[in-house]
Amino acid sequence: MPDNSYLLLTPGPLSTTKRVKAAMLRDWCTWDDDYNELVQAIRRKLVQLAGSNMEDYTAVLMQGSGTFCVESVIGTAIPENGKLLVLTNGAYGQRIAQMARMLRIETMVLDAGEVAPVDVARLEEELKHDPDITHIAVVHTETTTGMLNPIADVGKVAKAYGKCFIVDAMSSFGGIALDVAALDIDFLISSANKCIQGVPGFGFILAKKEVLAGCKGQARSLSLDLYDQWNTMEKQNGKWRFTSPTHVVHAFYVALQELEEEGGIAVREARYRQNQRTLIEGMKHLGFMPLLDEQHQSPIITSFYYPESSLFTFKEFYARLKREGFVIYPGKITTMDTFRIGNIGEVYPDDMKRLVEAIEKNIFW
Ligand SMILES: *Cc1c(COP(=O)(O)O)cnc(C)c1O
Repeated sequence: MPDNSYLLLTPGPLSTTKRVKAAMLRDWCTWDDDYNELVQAIRRKLVQLAGSNMEDYTAVLMQGSGTFCVESVIGTAIPENGKLLVLTNGAYGQRIAQMARMLRIETMVLDAGEVAPVDVARLEEELKHDPDITHIAVVHTETTTGMLNPIADVGKVAKAYGKCFIVDAMSSFGGIALDVAALDIDFLISSANKCIQGVPGFGFILAKKEVLAGCKGQARSLSLDLYDQWNTMEKQNGKWRFTSPTHVVHAFYVALQELEEEGGIAVREARYRQNQRTLIEGMKHLGFMPLLDEQHQSPIITSFYYPESSLFTFKEFYARLKREGFVIYPGKITTMDTFRIGNIGEVYPDDMKRLVEAIEKNIFW
């Protein structure tokens, strides 16, 4: 009997190991030294995972889903008279702009459509002409399509103009090797339930200590005050300000151990890439076309066009695959009919082969 009746081929929550889930099968206390030590160990491990010369960085854990963590950065890092430029090519970039506007932050969007990488040349043009811009935000893997954005190029321009650089690496951190210090990122956001392969309940922020220290008193929300969350975790050795998702934190610690046991991020990335190659080859064989060019495709999630048949409906396709033990994801882009298949989590090339076989068996169009 498998430990789940279906495999999650979604961009989070995703399939986790039995060991990760088993860590939650008891009641865990908070507010004591054992728990605080665990939190501190997690923070240290996250900093280590994020790059090679990470002395200037800290990790802050934050309750809520990934969006809450992005909002804690946007709401805390940008001062009252600051101006945010968001580079977008999908729903998650748009969400950053939306939250900034709700927080009454002056916001400018440079949109590249949904099937092209964010536009670094236009960014440079804007920065030349608009000295009011203080912060640049971009999504690393835009999960809307699976697009991998050129964050190194964005960062170079942002830094050449002295701007604060914010990266939503929600669906890539832990699954794609990157060096936060070398990229000179000021704030990077990710969550427990994506490529680290934990369960949902909190996210984390890797921040340049000096920049975060300058954010005191800037937050536009009490519960999402990233500075205060950090300050409390630092001063009180791993204490969260409010009730923390203790079970999820314990599960996350096990997930981090499993990432180490697997061989680290580079090895995990290689597995994800192999999953995806297996998926795309199998799907092409069945006549499905991926939305993105190979060069822009992240190894996380793939968008496919619907087959060209009026008999195809996503609802029926989804229901049939769920019965076969696979949960896939609807598309999210506005202009074309697509669906998405994730390949992150406790998922292996053999699972992708089984999925393709299940799809072949269920062709109804
Ligand atoms: C998953 C994800 C988020 C956060 O979504 P939540 O539903 O709040 O967890 C943000 N950005 C990207 C790119 C994501 O993939």
